[in-house]
Amino acid sequence: MEKGVLLNTLKEYFGYENFRPLQEKIINSVFEAKDNLVIMPTGGGKSICYQLPAILLPEITLVISPLIALMKDQVDGLNANGIPAAYLNSSQDEADKEAIFQKIDKNEIKLLYVAPESLQFIDRFLNDEKVSLIAIDEAHCISSWGHDFRPAYTQLGYLKNRYPSTPILALTATADKATRNDICMQLNIPGAKKHVASFDRKNLSLEVKPGIKRFEKIADFIQNRKTESGIIYCLSRKTTEELASKLKIKGYKAEAYHAGLDHLERSQIQEDFINDEKQIICATIAFGMGIDKSNIRWVIHYNMPKNLEGYYQEIGRAGRDGLPSDTLLFHSYSDVIQLQKFASNAKNEDVQLAKLDRMKQYAEALSCRRKILLGYFGEFMEENCGNCDICRNPPEFFDGTIIAQKALSCIFRLKASEPISTVIDVLRGAQNETVRRNNYEQLTTYGVGKDISWHNWQQYLIQLINLGYIEIAFDRNNHLQLTEQAKKVLFENEKVELAEVTEQKAKLKEEKAT
Ligand code: ADP
Ligand code: ZN
Repeated sequence: MEKGVLLNTLKEYFGYENFRPLQEKIINSVFEAKDNLVIMPTGGGKSICYQLPAILLPEITLVISPLIALMKDQVDGLNANGIPAAYLNSSQDEADKEAIFQKIDKNEIKLLYVAPESLQFIDRFLNDEKVSLIAIDEAHCISSWGHDFRPAYTQLGYLKNRYPSTPILALTATADKATRNDICMQLNIPGAKKHVASFDRKNLSLEVKPGIKRFEKIADFIQNRKTESGIIYCLSRKTTEELASKLKIKGYKAEAYHAGLDHLERSQIQEDFINDEKQIICATIAFGMGIDKSNIRWVIHYNMPKNLEGYYQEIGRAGRDGLPSDTLLFHSYSDVIQLQKFASNAKNEDVQLAKLDRMKQYAEALSCRRKILLGYFGEFMEENCGNCDICRNPPEFFDGTIIAQKALSCIFRLKASEPISTVIDVLRGAQNETVRRNNYEQLTTYGVGKDISWHNWQQYLIQLINLGYIEIAFDRNNHLQLTEQAKKVLFENEKVELAEVTEQKAKLKEEKAT
């Protein structure tokens, strides 16, 4: 298609002067009737890649989307821009559907949004000649490798057989390499051209903090952001409600949002958030999909997400206007353990556990987090980003051999029968019920780590886990146990490099400055 025609259409129907990176290339490939897979972050501008061709193509463009709740808004928006569109889903009765088929018959519709469950209705009315393009939104839902698998999507593989000469445009904001290939296989478009937009969102700062005293940390975080919109993602409905009410007590316009609320309540909250009537939404993952609010200034993860795709998609809802925005992830071992339990009940347990492991590595990283994040999506970054907590405050390493020896021999003396908290209590010589009941005062390692704070011990033990000296026995109540490698430290004097704990370091710096 001629460039002038594309630009005129872009201007006339969408009001934009220029294409964003990749949009033009994708659109041209669509006009060449090729199959395409587009991986573009949320807010990257995927919709135009099929909406614009739909205007110019001779026949109808089908848009398959799982987001029934958003279809009406999308279609209303298109119609308001003078693009004839309609939708078909399970919320409509026969008369509604009949009216749409009439319009299709008269060539009065350019875009038809269809829920995957409702596809069978249209097969009777349409054939290969009547469909110019099939766009499949949220295409990762077809793959059980992805993070949001939906059974209704699995049947979409038949589309290529049913409409063999119609190009397919699959779009998603989130898919790692394995998922990308799987999407193409499942859709029967193995030769699809893959377009991967950069996932780098430089305007989002990245930060991870240990998940202790989370509410205090959140209160600090929003202290200087009193008028800015933000989302706090939580794992459970209960947490969203507790958090929202605590924030309300502090005077913030906060609201809980989760799948337990009815449809009306939910859309009211969304609307209030979009109109800045509500400032903070404490939400389960149900919130934000498809929300078009460009000035979300921050996103906090109260609990750890189950994989990096989900995490990236959620933080990606901040700063869609390109202005600096902040993200904060809380990392706690109890979250990891809970997620591990969820994952081990899942059908594709191995995949989920591996993804969780990558999430954990990100949270525990001691090098530029953005590099790790983009690397996960197959993007290589030359330089450190300068906009993550590690870049701003890089860890300093020191000889931690003695600390490691104390920790490892303590676990050895405890006969690998205690979780991380008891190990720390024993190292610090704490007095409590467990210590007394088990006579832990008698151990030679009791109290040898008094000089190190509880929090710092926790951080050092986590590092020792990551370095492969300690394992968490998930099948035995999360007890810490030693690995083969630990013997080298205990008996062969292997040197252990530990990173200075950043929070302590930051505090020391502050103390020195004042
Ligand atoms: P996605 O579906 O990838 O999340 P959208 O298609 O909703 O993203 O686009 C995100 C925002 O960017 C929308 O407000 C859209 O109007 C805007 N947008 C898309 N393409 C362009 C463009 N070429 N120039 C300016 N704004 C654009
Ligand atoms: Zn960085």
